Amino acid sequence: CGFASLDLVEPLLRGIAKAGFETPTPVQSAVIPPALDGRDLMAAAATGSGKTAAFLLPIMQRLLASPAPRAGTRALVLVPTRELAYQVLDHFHALGSYSRLTAAAIVGGDPRNHQVNALRRNPEILIATPGRFLEHLETGEVDLTDLVFLVLDEADLMLDMGLVEDVVAIITQAPAARQSLLFSATLHRRGVPELAAHLSRDPLTVT
Ligand code: AMP
Repeated sequence: CGFASLDLVEPLLRGIAKAGFETPTPVQSAVIPPALDGRDLMAAAATGSGKTAAFLLPIMQRLLASPAPRAGTRALVLVPTRELAYQVLDHFHALGSYSRLTAAAIVGGDPRNHQVNALRRNPEILIATPGRFLEHLETGEVDLTDLVFLVLDEADLMLDMGLVEDVVAIITQAPAARQSLLFSATLHRRGVPELAAHLSRDPLTVT
């Protein structure tokens, strides 16, 4: 059946309807319930599987359930490319039409001063490429103290692109008490299990 059976709150169900989604995809049905329960997980999910909403919806629901008006960044979604970052941000805007959550994309190639201004507005969700995000972390423009969600999207592509060192540096600076989600087209690629082990101690595997 539909999204209503996934225990999502009304503003998100309205956002889902606005996005034109009627039935959850298999990865959404498999990921959303344990993610809402706070589980860490690693999921095999290719582009086109609906993986973006599978991680955005539980993050949005958990952030809506525990408002923290003066908190800094509460969710960080790391993606390999700027195009993917903007796709995730578009998805967020569609699903979040009826929720008062804020997000920004922080990617290489965009002007740093615009990003600094965006970061000072303290968006709850940041969607970022690893290199540029690490630069802002090193200059103190972003602070991970309030982070409760960390997502690695397209982990296999991050490995292909040589981004893992930056990703691990970011993971190391994130608070230990957080929920972590990893998505990869395949979980068998060399390096993916190692990356997952950096991210989480006991993730649920979704294939
Ligand atoms: P993704 O795999 O997250 O990149 O999503 C692939 C495409 O599927 C995107 O264009 C989404 O808008 C669309 N999509 C995601 N979930 C659903 C759904 N439950 N029903 C219909 N379309 C969806």
